[in-house]
Amino acid sequence: MNETTLSCDVLIVGAGPAGLSVAASLPDELASIIVHQDREIGLPVRTSGACWMQDVERLGIPEGMYKRMRSNEVFADKEHALIELGDEIPVILDTPKLYQWLARQSDHKNRRLLMATKFLTTRLREDGRYESTVRARGGPEQRVVSRYVVDGSGWHFAVLDALGLVAKPERLAVGTEYEYPLGRNADDRVIAFVGRKVPAGYGWAFGTAHGTLRIGVGVIQPDTDASPRALLDAVVTDRAYLARMGLDLQGPPLVVHSGILPSVAYDARLVFGRVIRVGDSANFATPTLGEGIRVCIEFGRLLGEKLGEAARTGRDGPLQEYERACRRKLERDYKWGFLVNTRAARYTPAQWNASVRRMGQAGPDALVATFRGEFPRAKIARMALIFLRQYLRARLRRIRMRLGWG
Ligand SMILES: Cc1cc2nc3c(=O)[nH]c(=O)nc-3n(C[C@H](O)[C@H](O)[C@H](O)COP(=O)(O)OP(=O)(O)OC[C@H]3O[C@@H](n4cnc5c(N)ncnc54)[C@H](O)[C@@H]3O)c2cc1C
Repeated sequence: MNETTLSCDVLIVGAGPAGLSVAASLPDELASIIVHQDREIGLPVRTSGACWMQDVERLGIPEGMYKRMRSNEVFADKEHALIELGDEIPVILDTPKLYQWLARQSDHKNRRLLMATKFLTTRLREDGRYESTVRARGGPEQRVVSRYVVDGSGWHFAVLDALGLVAKPERLAVGTEYEYPLGRNADDRVIAFVGRKVPAGYGWAFGTAHGTLRIGVGVIQPDTDASPRALLDAVVTDRAYLARMGLDLQGPPLVVHSGILPSVAYDARLVFGRVIRVGDSANFATPTLGEGIRVCIEFGRLLGEKLGEAARTGRDGPLQEYERACRRKLERDYKWGFLVNTRAARYTPAQWNASVRRMGQAGPDALVATFRGEFPRAKIARMALIFLRQYLRARLRRIRMRLGWG
């Protein structure tokens, strides 16, 4: 076997938004290698790219890499709700452009990007370094010796699995999307659909930043055995169903996207000696809508900074700080969010009808909190108060009608 050995401070497995954000915030002089099994950054597309204006601004994502959405609607089999989000503006990210921009943030650094190269395995050597085996497509195996290994491989859990640190997730959100010419559809309308067409999941449609229409379906397996592609085919060939949502699809789809993300309870352990996980490998996507990109960028950047400090000082303390910061920000919210996730995955079409009716009556605060997967105590108390008020009003109405006062 023809083998070569490379060495670096940090080996990053996976050039998704998480791995690229880690590389972007490592100190310039620290040597890093990213291995990425795909041939191009950001392609093929495996995500929908929904995000929020507040995050785009906070993360400094440049204009031209996202599209603002103006109207939001949810359809259940027998209900339809216009979703009022107050000052919060949903956006659709152009993910190939965004990920390529993230990659450029580390172009000037002491960083090598090995494309079409797969991480195979790793082992801890006696000198405390990791020796990983990677292989470029059609090429020989290579060794990469590093002080730190970052698992940014998404749902593959490639490094964690190779070292037997964390089992691969058994519950997965699996999605398929078709992209059509925009045609007569509005380019700034977001639609979600739930009910009989999408068991244990939901569907979506929206205009993209590059002037197309995307429609997709995501389900949680094994909560359902149904394939998202078969469900999506049943949606896009049902003219009456599409017409009710005001969608007009022209011809066959231009592109098909498929993606997978873990849908398991948040596990706060992210650091295993000098192996650290980030992104979907760390279950960063929100349990409510499965929105991970903004979280991957924020905490990927934090991990890059903390890795820099750890490498400079030789201490592992900064890595523990990364783990604690993620725990503080995500653990509580994701516990509540996961409750919503597992409950909604069991909803019957009738329960979805009731849920969409409630969405139509709920205020922006409660909706934004649920969609973003953020449940701070004050918001939960406010939401409980709103629900209590709605419940009491409905009861009062019924009593008045029974007494003949209404
Ligand atoms: C259908 C679907 C829709 C989604 N919609 C949204 C959305 O609207 N908004 C949002 O914010 N998030 C969404 N998400 C979630 C979001 O895409 C993820 O949270 C995010 O991509 C995770 O980033 P990551 O860098 O951790 O992993 P990934 O984006 O999965 O990147 C990891 C990369 O590592 C590579 N890799 C894996 N194993 C190896 C290996 N052994 N060797 C080398 N490379 C490897 C993979 O090819 C992959 O490109 C969606 C996900 C899915 C599946």
